[in-house]
Amino acid sequence: MAAFKPQWNDWCPGCGNFGILNAEQQAIIELGVDTKNVVVVSGIGCSGKIPHFFRTPISGVHTLHGRAIAFATGIKLSNPDLVVIVNGGDGDLLGIGAGHFVAAGRRNIDMVVILHNNGVYGLTKGQAAPTLKRGEKPKSLPRPNINDAVNPIALAISSGYTFVARGYAYDVKHLKELIKSAIKHKGLALIDVLQPCPTYNDINTKEWYDKRIYKLETLPDWDPVVKKPEEVNEKIKKAIDKSLEWGDRIPIGIFYQNELVPSYEERIKANSPAYLDYTPAKQLIEKEGKLTTIIDPLLKEREVD
Ligand code: SF4
Ligand code: MG
Repeated sequence: MAAFKPQWNDWCPGCGNFGILNAEQQAIIELGVDTKNVVVVSGIGCSGKIPHFFRTPISGVHTLHGRAIAFATGIKLSNPDLVVIVNGGDGDLLGIGAGHFVAAGRRNIDMVVILHNNGVYGLTKGQAAPTLKRGEKPKSLPRPNINDAVNPIALAISSGYTFVARGYAYDVKHLKELIKSAIKHKGLALIDVLQPCPTYNDINTKEWYDKRIYKLETLPDWDPVVKKPEEVNEKIKKAIDKSLEWGDRIPIGIFYQNELVPSYEERIKANSPAYLDYTPAKQLIEKEGKLTTIIDPLLKEREVD
């Protein structure tokens, strides 16, 4: 689906999704990536509409509930030259899509996952989503939430994501820089974006966040980047400890980054050296009027005596 045509944007006034969309567009433009090589993939939810609203000529796919990461993985493996960005809500990525969220981390495929984290299922009238804390009662719930919340930062790190950050939808400049860093990172990146939903979540509002948010990079000793293998455990521990800080102060910024882990593309190349030269999306599908596929080198690698 080409997304470069005017679309009516039906997000509610004040929705944090506007900030995420702006930051994403600016990041792509500022990086100078050829927009023909960018694919934005979404699932179902208010965030799922994001590919429709881009004003840059990107490609977008609005897929099934919880399946955006699986769909994006297929796109990236078919053409590893593409910049692939997944957008999903907390319900989409951490509820029905939680299995894909974890499996993607184990692969460390080179793409970006942007989590629109508002604590509710906004599209279906504000039910409790997986990031809503137990005991909280936004105005959309008749009684307080009885489920415990998932910590997206800790889950991503323990699943194998190698770039893990948190942004804030109303700090577009900071979020844009995080998205640029995530795109440049080699491996799988998560950005957990705190995204106020003024229609259904009257607890985690803009005013509530504005009083609490601070930037990790302002801490004098904060260094989330793994530079040698011996540092991995210490950096993971610090990142997860920081992700538990949620009260009067809430940190945003990069929690953990490790480019020493091979990406999925590198693992495939080691296992099947011809793969990257014969990726499916780059094959001729027709030659001299006949259907054809040039996969002989790949088949040869798979031959058994
Ligand atoms: Fe945004 Fe919430 Fe409205 Fe959905 S319901 S568009 S998340 S404000
Ligand atoms: Mg949500």
